[in-house]
Amino acid sequence: MNKSKINMHAAVAYEGVEDFQYETLTMEAPQDNEVLVKIFGVGLCHTDLLGKNGMIPYPFPAVFGHEGAGIVEQVGKSVKKVKPGDAVVLSFRSCSYCDRCEDAEPAYCRNLLELNFTGRREDGSSALSNDKGPVSSNFFGQSSFATHAMCYESNIVKVDNNLPLQIMGALGCGIQTGVGAVTRSLAVSKGSSILITGGGTVGLSAVMGAALAECETVILVEPNADRRELAASFGATLCIDPNKVENVSAHIRSQFPLGVDYAIDATGIPAVQQSAFECLGSKGTLGLVGVTPPGVSPPGSIFEMINAGITIKGIMEGDSEPDTFIPELIEYFKAGLLPFDKMVSTYKLCDINQAVTDQHNGHAIKAILIP
Ligand SMILES: [Zn+2]
Ligand SMILES: [Zn+2]
Repeated sequence: MNKSKINMHAAVAYEGVEDFQYETLTMEAPQDNEVLVKIFGVGLCHTDLLGKNGMIPYPFPAVFGHEGAGIVEQVGKSVKKVKPGDAVVLSFRSCSYCDRCEDAEPAYCRNLLELNFTGRREDGSSALSNDKGPVSSNFFGQSSFATHAMCYESNIVKVDNNLPLQIMGALGCGIQTGVGAVTRSLAVSKGSSILITGGGTVGLSAVMGAALAECETVILVEPNADRRELAASFGATLCIDPNKVENVSAHIRSQFPLGVDYAIDATGIPAVQQSAFECLGSKGTLGLVGVTPPGVSPPGSIFEMINAGITIKGIMEGDSEPDTFIPELIEYFKAGLLPFDKMVSTYKLCDINQAVTDQHNGHAIKAILIP
C-alpha cells in the first residue's frame, strides 16, 4: 500500500470547551518511523479527561485517547515490527535506547514526557491538522480518539487477528496498570493480604491481579454497589462501602489487627490515600496509582514509615513492558482468568461525551469507543 495523506475523524478537545467535538481532520502520511493504525476501539481513561480539562500541560486543540487497538494500514520505511494488515494493541511510547528502556522498564523511560505529552513529533510537527492549523497528536504516541492514529514501534504490540480487537485497547493502559501494579510493581507474595481503594478499571484490574497472584485477603473499598459486586466475582474477599462505615481504616483494623501487607490506591483522593496508609501493617507497602493534582504530598508521616518499615511507591503503567506484558494479559484473558470484558460498555466514538458522563456517574466502568 502506498503511503498517503488521509482524511479521518476524531474527537477534538478545545481549551475551555466542555464537550469533545467530533470533526474531520487531515492526517499526514507516516514518516519513516511511524505506523498508521486504523482504530477499531479505544478505551476512555481518566488521564484523557485530565488532558481535556487542562490538568496535563498539552497544546490545544488536541486529540487525546491512549487505549487504542486496530489494524496497521500504512508503515514508514524504517518500520520492521509490523506490516499493513497486522492487528495491534497500542500502549504508551518509550525511547528504546535509555538505560530504563534497556533494563526493560519503559514505563520509567527517561524520555517519556517528550514522547507522550508534547502533542508534537520530535521535529516539532504534528501528523494532524484542521483547516486552521495543526492539531496536537502523539498523546501516548497515539491520540486514538479517532478513526486513525499515528503510532511508533515502541508503543504497538502485534497481537492475534482473531481477538475481539474492539475491546483489546483497554489492556494498553488501565488494565495493565491495575494488574501490573499488583503483580509487577509490588510483586505481591502468594498468601499475602492487599487492600485496594477505588473500584474503577484500574482498581478492579488490581483485584484480578491479586487473584492471579493468589493473595489470601483481597479487600476493595468502593462506594458503587455494582462495582463491589463485580469485584467479588473477580476474587475480592471483602468489599467495603466507605459510605456505610464511620472510619474505613478503623473498620479494616478491627478485622485485621496486624494490618495489611499491601495497599493500592486507585482513587487519587488524598483522604483515601491516607486511610490506605493507616491500614498497612509492619513492612507494608502502599502503591500509588491514582493521580492527585500537582503539589499534593504523600500520605502518612516519616515517623510512622520508619517505625513500621513502610514503603510508599509511585507506580506508572503497572511497571509494564508492553511487548511482553500485553501478550501475557491476553493469555490470562483467553484462559478466563482476566475477564475484563465484564467491565466494558461500548459507545460510538461520536457519542464520546455521553460515555464521559456515564463513566463519571458510575453507569459505565470502562467505556470503549468504537470509531
Ligand atoms: Zn527510554
Ligand atoms: Zn490511561
